[in-house]
Amino acid sequence: PKLSRKEEEEAIRRSTAYEQDNTETLRKVSRQEYLKKREQKKLEEISDEIEDEQYLFDGVKLTETEYHELRYKKEILELVKKRSEDLDGYTEYRMPEAYDQDGVVNQEKRFAAISQRYRDTGSGDKMNPFAEQEAWEEHQIGKATLKFGSKDKKQISDDYQYVFDDQIEFIKASVIEGDKFEDELPEEQLQKMEISALQKLQDERKTLPIYTYREELLQAVRDHQILVIVGETGSGKTTQIPQYLHEAGYTKHGKVGCTQPRRVAAMSVAKRVSEEMGVKLGHEVGYSIRFEDCTSEKTVLKYMTDGMLLREFLSEPDLASYSVVMVDEAHERTLSTDILFGLVKDIVRFRSDLKLLISSATLDAEKFSDYFDSAPIFKIPGRRFPVEIHYTKAPEADYLDAAVVTILQIHVTQPPGDILVFFTGQEEIETAEEILKHRTQGLGSKIAELIICPIYANLPTDLQAKIFEPTPEYARKVVLATNIAETSLTIDGIKYVIDPGFCKMKSYNPRTGMESLLITPISKASAMQRAGRSGRTGPGKCFRLYTSYNYHHDLDDNTVPEIQRTNLANVVLTLKSLGIHDLLHFDFMDPPPSEALLKALELLFALNALNNRGELTKAGRRMAEFPLDPMVSKMIVASDKYKCSEEIISIAAMLSVGNSIFYRPKDKQVHADNARMNFHTGNVGDHIALLKVYSSWKETNFSTQWCYENYIQVRSMKRARDIRDQLEGLLERVEIELVSNPNDLEVIKKAITSGFFHHSARLQKSGSYRTVKNPQTVHIHPSSGLAQVLPRWVVYHELVLTTKEYMRQVTELKPEWLVEIAPHYYQLKD
Ligand code: ADP
Ligand code: MG
Repeated sequence: PKLSRKEEEEAIRRSTAYEQDNTETLRKVSRQEYLKKREQKKLEEISDEIEDEQYLFDGVKLTETEYHELRYKKEILELVKKRSEDLDGYTEYRMPEAYDQDGVVNQEKRFAAISQRYRDTGSGDKMNPFAEQEAWEEHQIGKATLKFGSKDKKQISDDYQYVFDDQIEFIKASVIEGDKFEDELPEEQLQKMEISALQKLQDERKTLPIYTYREELLQAVRDHQILVIVGETGSGKTTQIPQYLHEAGYTKHGKVGCTQPRRVAAMSVAKRVSEEMGVKLGHEVGYSIRFEDCTSEKTVLKYMTDGMLLREFLSEPDLASYSVVMVDEAHERTLSTDILFGLVKDIVRFRSDLKLLISSATLDAEKFSDYFDSAPIFKIPGRRFPVEIHYTKAPEADYLDAAVVTILQIHVTQPPGDILVFFTGQEEIETAEEILKHRTQGLGSKIAELIICPIYANLPTDLQAKIFEPTPEYARKVVLATNIAETSLTIDGIKYVIDPGFCKMKSYNPRTGMESLLITPISKASAMQRAGRSGRTGPGKCFRLYTSYNYHHDLDDNTVPEIQRTNLANVVLTLKSLGIHDLLHFDFMDPPPSEALLKALELLFALNALNNRGELTKAGRRMAEFPLDPMVSKMIVASDKYKCSEEIISIAAMLSVGNSIFYRPKDKQVHADNARMNFHTGNVGDHIALLKVYSSWKETNFSTQWCYENYIQVRSMKRARDIRDQLEGLLERVEIELVSNPNDLEVIKKAITSGFFHHSARLQKSGSYRTVKNPQTVHIHPSSGLAQVLPRWVVYHELVLTTKEYMRQVTELKPEWLVEIAPHYYQLKD
């Protein structure tokens, strides 16, 4: 049955309310109600005080304001103390193993201990399919009920002045000096009533540091073909420069393209610029990210991920439709940015009409200038206010908990100003959000409202906008962000930064061909960038959740560019399809390890994308059309032969969405697990189960209600549908017919194997598996439908390292298929 729009909305509302059932929050009260309550409370307090005009506090005479402040803080402290007592009996999560004997933190052990938090508790023998997830969830619940304060049994002082020091001890170490400048922001101008929203945005544009240099900058662009531009984050590079170029006429004969390393940044900046120009997003200003093209014929300012511009070279090798290309956030040195460097450097040599701008937030611009034949460097002086750096006195073993405690300390003791906290990913952000809500819950109107704003790549677009909304006067905003807030996005009003010192980083072992995401300490350069976020609009403070010793001795100076720590198969395929054959002599700014290049060539050869002379084959040419990992592209290309392209693109789309299809509300785990196992009937394997989920949803005419009933995330499914639509379009382009063969599971599995034969593993006597190439012991992930079945041979989608090396998304295969599909790779022995 098709739901009406209203019913659909209701179902979505119900499904999210359901997910969040256990987290009653302050924010559920409407703003107005809340304000009213606060007002009332104040009145009550004041009438109390009238009888007691002395303002004595523990015998000390105070002014009225002091008195109220002190009394208020004392109340909170008592509440907090009471809460801690209520919660006594829960053991605190500590990681003593992170310390050496003398109490100095050992980074390596610390890192190991922190990763441990995300790991299985090891009920491997019982093979409970959800052991890992349960252990994780239990751990999350445990954490959520921890005491306020991460130190053991410490007395909470009555004196509010020491609240802060008492929880986590920080040492103020240094102040990063600010720049000297006259503060002549036309504030009054901004506050003038009755100016239209557009006018207001126009005025805001004029307050940005870059505005003063508009003419000089345009002159420099006129004078030079390549320009390196350096300016502090927030100075206006990303949002303003393309507009200046537009205003100066550069869009009359071509587009201005501006690349961003992150999807969220491309979308959010494009939205902002369209507002500033007063046009509809997707018209004159648009963005293009993988699987989402929000541009039109009209688009002249195009924001896009660096990966998308790279793909545009395939259809337009000289970027003829562009008059200016701006490679933004160049300091991030993503894989795609580094490859773009080589390609655009080549193009400007024969397209004298193309302007190239390389912009960066850090000062090592000389390196860019050297690479681009000594291009001039244009520096935009920033407005930087001094930032106080605080380090913890002792190492904090559990940074997530320490961050939450620090947020609350700042909230209770520090003057107004928003807080920005850096976490490593979505999981951590969600956990922190949950703990924060839990801990502020009982405090009611005792503390000012804390508006919690998460921001990470997969956050739905409508929620992303929330971080930019101005904070109401009565509240404080705390932004829980991934690295994206380090330089890509600027959030106004941040005064406090909390830096746990970690980020998630890809690492690649070219010897085994294994790629993994690891939580890794950040570099000193990153730490400085993070601190700088607090001093944009006034003096700021940065709280580093590590010691000064850690900073000086354990952190690397700079982050290693991605190209030196990643799997290059995708890039090599793209370059080959651009006609770049001699990869060893490609003009890399920092060349990748040649071992990694060889590994990539080897894989592409195995997938039959390259012939033995290293040239692109027909299959390789088709594969390059798909913005997917070569193994997934190969699976799609192979579906032509096996006559099951309909099914395979559904599987590819579902795999692209990641692991956010199913959800398990805490109070309905059994139901959710049963619903999930329904799709696994007949031990069909995880790929086919994903296919069944998709097809069943399609059969219900993409019903939201159906998702709700089956514990499936609607949002993820809609994304899968979008991706699938695009893959369908691409099939046409590579002339693969759309054929459905839903009942022959064997051919579907063969098509999967054609892409993933590299990822095959064989059962051992011990019950574990051994990968066939680069032999390694691995296990079926507990969430897999085959975790208890243990087929003799399997193919897997990816490996994830938790306590063990787990295969995620697993399907059974017959060893003969390997020989049939990849005879150059496998031979039957037994
Ligand atoms: P830079 O690229 O030099 O770091 P930006 O051009 O990104 O600087 O930012 C300039 C200003 O625009 C900042 O004050 C920032 O707050 C504002 N801004 C950028 N994106 C948005 C957005 N999506 N919503 C609201 N303000 C934004
Ligand atoms: Mg920028």
